[in-house]
Parts: sequence; structure tokens; C-alpha cells
Amino acid sequence: MAVLAGETAPPADAEQSSRAEQSPRADLKAAALPESWEPPVASRNWKSIVLHHSATAQGDVPSIDAAHRRLKDGNGKPWLGIAYHFVIGNGQGMEDGEVQPTFRWQRQLQGAHAGNHLHNEHGIGICLIGNFNQQRPTAKQVAAVKKLVAALANRYGIGRSQIVRHLDIQSTECPGRLFPFAEVIAGLNQGAGLSAGKPGTKPSTRPFVRRAG
Ligand SMILES: [Zn+2]
Repeated sequence: MAVLAGETAPPADAEQSSRAEQSPRADLKAAALPESWEPPVASRNWKSIVLHHSATAQGDVPSIDAAHRRLKDGNGKPWLGIAYHFVIGNGQGMEDGEVQPTFRWQRQLQGAHAGNHLHNEHGIGICLIGNFNQQRPTAKQVAAVKKLVAALANRYGIGRSQIVRHLDIQSTECPGRLFPFAEVIAGLNQGAGLSAGKPGTKPSTRPFVRRAG
């Protein structure tokens, strides 16, 4: 359940010296949020990023939206629509590596993806199309999620310890055994932790309506 499985923080001085070789300007540019991903309304108070897979071979924003509208929350109320803030296509329904913000991002609404109050309220939900228990995400998906996570982390000051897989905060296999998490978070700032969702935090045992994605 370690959030940073297989990763150890480099010594602070090593990190600094490797940074010094790069232009800080170039770093900022690389991590800037592209204009098309900037929310059109005031930003929510984002504190974490939660990574998911769709657990399906194909899909796109409308197909996930339709599926999630059929779900009900713990109070029996239907979901508003797609639970995530961003979807990354795999070439089966969306372009391979294409990133699409959803209505929850456009309107800066809370997510419904984490099964965990804190991460639903303050976590940015990213879903990659595919079943990563069966195969790895495509190279373009990996490149896209790395870019998106880096840009969001930079924009909202989210530290590496607050970038988590769904399985780190809930009893689920999402985003799958073959999701290259260490690669996605490599090179990001360590940052400060939140009070919940830290490595070692036990996943909620509360029942949740959706486990696949
Ligand atoms: Zn998930």
C-alpha cells in the first residue's frame, strides 16, 4: 500500500545538483498547464491527484459519462455524470494519448472517483482508457499522463506524496498491476503531505458502488 512503491527520495543535495544542470525556465515551460487545460472558472482548492484506469478495452468521455449516469451514490442519488476530471484516450474511442477535460474540470466540481471524501473534494481524477491488469497503457498515454500530472502538480503545488493511484486510497485494483506509477511520478517534487491519504493510510473499508474503475 506504499504510495511511492519502489521509489526512494534522492538526497536533497543530489536533487539540487541535478536540477542545477537544467534551466529553471525550461522546467517551468515544460510543466505549464496548456491553455486548453486551464479551467475557465476559478480553480478549486486542489490538493491531490488520483490515477485510474477505465478497466475497459475502449472508451471515451461520452461512454464513461453515460455509464456513470446510471450509478447512484450512497444516498441513492444518481451521479451527475463522468466521475473524473480528465480522460486520456488509447486510440480506441479517443485518439491515442489525447487528453480531454470533462465537465467536472470545466466547472471545477468535486469528483466522484475516489471513494474517499478528501480525495473526491480536493483530488483531481484522471482516468486512462484501458485495462492495465491486462496490458500496459500505450506509450502515448504514458507520455500524456506524465505531462498532465506534472503540469497539474506544478500549477496547484501538489507534492509527489499526494499523487496517488486509486488503489492507494481504496480497496480496488485500479489502475491495474501494469500501470507504470513509478515512471509517472519520477522527477516530480516530493512536496508536503496532506493529513489523510499519506503512505501507510489504510484504505477505506466503506462500501462503494463502483470498483472496476
Ligand atoms: Zn479508479
